[in-house]
Amino acid sequence: MNAVSEDVAKLTEKELESANEYQHLAMRTATHKCYDLANAALGLTGEAGEVADIIKKHLYQGHGLYPSEVIEELGDVLWYVALMADYFNVTLGFVMQQNIAKLKARYPEGFDPVRSVNREYKAELLTMEQWEAVVREIRKELGEEEQDE
Ligand SMILES: [Mg+2]
Repeated sequence: MNAVSEDVAKLTEKELESANEYQHLAMRTATHKCYDLANAALGLTGEAGEVADIIKKHLYQGHGLYPSEVIEELGDVLWYVALMADYFNVTLGFVMQQNIAKLKARYPEGFDPVRSVNREYKAELLTMEQWEAVVREIRKELGEEEQDE
């Protein structure tokens, strides 16, 4: 196990299951019409924009900053992240694992501006074949049928 997979392994099964359960519960409200790439992308950026708008109004227009408002919008962002993950047939837990792997590969000792500019981390990320093998494994664990495409 290398340093990247060690960090990914720190996400416990329980944590991944919680994320996947969130995705399952959140997608209860996703209609067939929601499963559209443009809807997912525009919804995600729209909700992120709502977060930015709250901060903008606080910083430049004298509005109060209420964490509950920001947190509510973060939840809306998360809903669209879950939708996009669903669209690509991956779990939210898998998205989390991929992100941790990328961060560990890019910044093994924490943020480093030099590594930020020279992003050689990509060689350490999963290849498409590895990615597809992981997705197949997740689908198998979820009891989903292999789909011919
Ligand atoms: Mg919102």
